[in-house]
Amino acid sequence: MADKKILVAEDESIVGLHIADSLRKLGYAVPAVVASGEEAVRKSGELRPDLILMDIVLKGDMDGIEAAGLIRSRFNIPVIYLTAYGDDETLRRAKITEPLGYILKPFKERELHTAIEIALYRHEMETKLKKMERWLATTLRSIGDAVIAADENINITFMNKTAEDMTGWKQEDAIGKKLTEVFNIKGEETRTVEWVLANKVLKEGVIINLAEDSLLITRDSKEIPISDSAAPIKEEHGIPGIVIVFRDITDRKQLEEALIFRDCHDSLTGLPNRGLFIDRLSLKIADAHRNNRQLAVLFLDLDRFKRINDTLGHFVGDMLLKKVSEKIRTCIRESDTIARIGGDEFSILLPDIGNAVDAGVSAEKILATFETPYRINGHELNISTSIGISMYPDDGLHFEELMKNADIAMYQAKEKGRNNYQFYDPAVNVRTLELIALENMLRQAIKRDELLVYYQPLADISMQRVIGAEALVRWRHPELGLLDPMRFLPLAEETGFIKSIDSFVLRTACGQNRTWQQAGLSPISVSVNFSAMQFQRPDLEEMVTQVLSESSLGPEYLCVEITENVAMRDIEMTLPNVTRLKGLGIGLSIDDFGTGYSSLSCLRKFPIKKLKIDKSFVRDIADPDNKAIIGAIIAMAHNLKLKTLAEGVEDMEQIEFLRSLGCDEIQGYLFSRPLPADEFKEMMTRA
Ligand code: C2E
Ligand code: MG
Ligand code: MG
Repeated sequence: MADKKILVAEDESIVGLHIADSLRKLGYAVPAVVASGEEAVRKSGELRPDLILMDIVLKGDMDGIEAAGLIRSRFNIPVIYLTAYGDDETLRRAKITEPLGYILKPFKERELHTAIEIALYRHEMETKLKKMERWLATTLRSIGDAVIAADENINITFMNKTAEDMTGWKQEDAIGKKLTEVFNIKGEETRTVEWVLANKVLKEGVIINLAEDSLLITRDSKEIPISDSAAPIKEEHGIPGIVIVFRDITDRKQLEEALIFRDCHDSLTGLPNRGLFIDRLSLKIADAHRNNRQLAVLFLDLDRFKRINDTLGHFVGDMLLKKVSEKIRTCIRESDTIARIGGDEFSILLPDIGNAVDAGVSAEKILATFETPYRINGHELNISTSIGISMYPDDGLHFEELMKNADIAMYQAKEKGRNNYQFYDPAVNVRTLELIALENMLRQAIKRDELLVYYQPLADISMQRVIGAEALVRWRHPELGLLDPMRFLPLAEETGFIKSIDSFVLRTACGQNRTWQQAGLSPISVSVNFSAMQFQRPDLEEMVTQVLSESSLGPEYLCVEITENVAMRDIEMTLPNVTRLKGLGIGLSIDDFGTGYSSLSCLRKFPIKKLKIDKSFVRDIADPDNKAIIGAIIAMAHNLKLKTLAEGVEDMEQIEFLRSLGCDEIQGYLFSRPLPADEFKEMMTRA
């Protein structure tokens, strides 16, 4: 208490001293007793007392009330009046200065003490409150959320800076206005908003969102997406107002939209993804059902896309996918949907289509755009696509069925040689499903030891001597039995699995040949077939070298067969690898010769030893055309110092013809079918 300083202003010096004395006794410090109003103001400034006991009648020109007014406003020091005047006029004047006490003389010491303590306490509280108010005001002004307060009539009483910025209203213009005029929500009836505020917030005292994802209309008619809440200002006896807090959610909205877009679109092509496609398809199915219309689902799979990806890299593959999707988009209407379903798979939805023929026309248009090659990173890429079509309602009533059947039809298109479209045909469905199952099983085949190699002897034309063996792959399928390569190789080529198959056959055949040699059979060369993909491997030479050394087989006992089509189609691609293989000392044959259209000059570039004449010519060798072709091939080959072998020789008549034409070697059922390794060995020992 002793640290509380009290200034006494009293014109009667004896009274003043007496008061000061009593105060000191009560434990207060009294730094001065002044007699005039002017002095009271001056000393207050100098001494900064905690309280002033102020007489109203003072010496000088300024009375106590005037002095108190100045002191309050300048120094915020609380005042208690000590006076002999209690008339109305004096009281009225005194009240304006907000005194913390008014004591009429004469008074008791005890009364003074209580009045001082209460005044000091109240002043402390008020100071704290004011500070808090200032803090609150500053906080409200500076927070990022917009705040608008309104009274119980929903008229605005306060707006913070953010609210001003967002609504375009200044607080001074807004105060007293109806809240709904400033806080204008699009699509919400003013009446409704007011009703909600009056009944829910003001009456029931609940916090509510005025509208989910509302749009605020600013004073200059702009629209801002906001999220908001309106809360009651609660006091002990009721709810005198509401406060609305809202914030600009443009960024969040944009992010949400971006996220939603990302969730339903493929990041590479920007096309809708599978999920969005299914959504749209379901909607359009419902439309078609209502209006008794048809719709078409097209399923596209790029042909041999994997090859491009594997050989030229993912970057080129990605660019190609982008360009392809852009091109397809130009073939379809705005109302159609194209989606990327998987790696190189696309789905197209043609809603509201007249009939199946129209879907066929669209498919043809798409196929036609693939005729022009794509230029990417300096590569000229030729790619085609296979398309399957299913129709609502004929081929399915639900999206799953329609998509599955379009997929099956796509497989049928692949089977028909790719680069074409097929309508879903339930009749071939079963076979296609088998094909799909096959693909899945093929992946497991090597691991499960289901792949085997058969060997078919190659003999000289006199059929006296076996001069080699061709390794031919077989798949012992657990349910379908022994499958010929034609049943699964096209599929393996499509999926890229062919590389593993070829390597497996190479390894097995080399190992087998070495085993035969070690068993004392007269050494022969073993031929293996390499697919196109094999020749695109950058590590082909390395791989073959390794297999040879693992099996300790001399390179002269290995021959690689490359079909005419593969060899000639991509000479730049295949030739370097073929040349490297030749460098290893391996033999090279051109397989299925005559089916392609290779020119002599091209053939010359290849370091080959042998041409294998395709069995289709041999089959109908009696046909004069075929005879002429075989004759020409043999003559040409001999010119180039190449040996010739006729494939598919099944009877003696063919042998006679071939011998007369000068053919060197034969392969065919007449001499022997392809045999398992042990039977091949038996045959060799018999011979
Ligand atoms: P290809 O290289 O022309 O193999 C000769 C095909 O003709 C073999 O069919 C063989 O069984 C068959 N053939 C042999 N003699 C006769 C005959 O007198 N009459 C008839 N009609 N056919 C005969 P296969 O084993 O079904 O193989 C078919 C094709 O599959 C092969 O044709 C080859 O291109 C490919 N192939 C087989 N194994 C592999 C392999 O491991 N890798 C690769 N990439 N392709 C392979
Ligand atoms: Mg072959
Ligand atoms: Mg062949």
